[in-house]
Amino acid sequence: MQTITREFSMTINGQAIKTDKLLSVLNPANETEVARVPVATQEHLNEAVAAAKSAFKSWSKLSVEERAAKIEAFADGIASRREELAKLFTLEMGRPISAPFGSYTEIDAAANWCKEMAKFRLAPEVLEDTDAHKIVKYRTPVGVAGLIVPWNFPALLAIWKIAPALLTGNTIIVKPSPYTPLTTLIMGEIARDIFPPGVFNVLTGEDELGPWITAHPEINKISFTGSTATGKKVMQSAAANLKRVTLELGGNDAAIVLEDANPQEVVEPLFWSCFSNTAQVCIATKRLYVHEKIYDQFLEALVQYAKNIPVGDGMDKATLIGPVQNKMQYERVKELIEDAKKSGVKIACGGNVEDKPGYFIPITIIDNPPEDSRVVKEEAFGPVLPVIKYSDYNDVIQRANNTEYGLAGSVWGKDLNLAQSIAEQLETGTVWINEFQVLAPNLPFGGHKQSGIGVENSLEGVAEYTNTKTIMVKKK
Ligand code: NAD
Repeated sequence: MQTITREFSMTINGQAIKTDKLLSVLNPANETEVARVPVATQEHLNEAVAAAKSAFKSWSKLSVEERAAKIEAFADGIASRREELAKLFTLEMGRPISAPFGSYTEIDAAANWCKEMAKFRLAPEVLEDTDAHKIVKYRTPVGVAGLIVPWNFPALLAIWKIAPALLTGNTIIVKPSPYTPLTTLIMGEIARDIFPPGVFNVLTGEDELGPWITAHPEINKISFTGSTATGKKVMQSAAANLKRVTLELGGNDAAIVLEDANPQEVVEPLFWSCFSNTAQVCIATKRLYVHEKIYDQFLEALVQYAKNIPVGDGMDKATLIGPVQNKMQYERVKELIEDAKKSGVKIACGGNVEDKPGYFIPITIIDNPPEDSRVVKEEAFGPVLPVIKYSDYNDVIQRANNTEYGLAGSVWGKDLNLAQSIAEQLETGTVWINEFQVLAPNLPFGGHKQSGIGVENSLEGVAEYTNTKTIMVKKK
């Protein structure tokens, strides 16, 4: 059992702010308290917004190079506290500290992403320069941005928002999930020494803090990552003062394994595309469609692979899969497994949840459940995977698209023309062929349908923190 004895503070107007009321952060591996964090009141939010609004006047006037330099210094600050951040990350999130995409990797990715995002430039664009007119399109910052982050990638997804928002001249209020506030609070500490007061504010709190942010009349932009259900509430609330919104929401991604795929080759990457981060990844494979010709061989290889993966406390260096992050999610995944069991489908692996402390669920693979079962239709967001047999490519494309979600997907096999043709027909923001979850600062990432609005990353994602402004000069 590990308890963090230090105190955590919010960052408002460059100051460390503590509160009498505190929120307990639990370690999902044993349900003991890791630390306590402040609970912001509406007054705290008002102070942060006022500070951000005031700081905007000078921050937005700096050159982009000056702002980029601060973001790079912030990245160095994250890197310099790597050990502490990675440990806190595992204690609050449950992610294995040393796994291939473990806590160290996420902290490193957060620092690197900052550096890469700081290089983007939204240069003015001359739209017309004729005898009659000179017309130039500029990008101006939106103002105060509210950045709302989920618990599954608390460091990296915060950075996806923080770096472009600051680069383009906005000031920010960052709100982590109440389940995983620690790494974000440390980011606030780091920011205090780098950014002018009011530019970078971090608030933690209970369930009402998010709605206060989305409803605040002086916040001009919301960038939200979380579930589709919450995303709809965010958009509704943001409409009151027509805040700009970027919404990165849920997914129910399909992977389609073609008949010519070699099961021995694709099982390992496909396993991790499903179960990495205990399957709590928006772009995890959540429905795995396998051609009937190789279905039995594939399923057997997948189950064999799964059986050798150590599940346990993320602080143990041998662990590759940690617990589910929180109790609500744990209960939900258990419910989906129970539903599958009751329906009589075959459980190929796992399925029995031990009654012990910690939110541990064994890797559970369901053998060919019906298309309309809950485990196929709903986003589980935990380690239960339906593997589904198909025989016809047009049919499987139709089944993959038969969802309100449209985040990502993947196709696996040797016939690249067929894979490309399937990829083109999938109604999602990203499709990978023979790889998974490859993301980079220069690649636009966003969902179709009810998986979101707008994109993050790339110049297009950076532009989401700006308004366009066109200045037209009449020459004669
Ligand atoms: P969630 O929607 O419950 O919470 C996300 C954040 O919103 C948290 O900080 C939460 O405190 C806050 N929040 C909750 N209610 C709010 C409200 N009414 N108004 C404003 N803020 C509110 O999601 P979660 O359980 O933290 O995350 C899991 C979900 O996020 C999954 O559906 C997953 O697919 C999705 N996700 C999407 C992406 C993506 O990029 N598309 C990335 C990661 C996770």
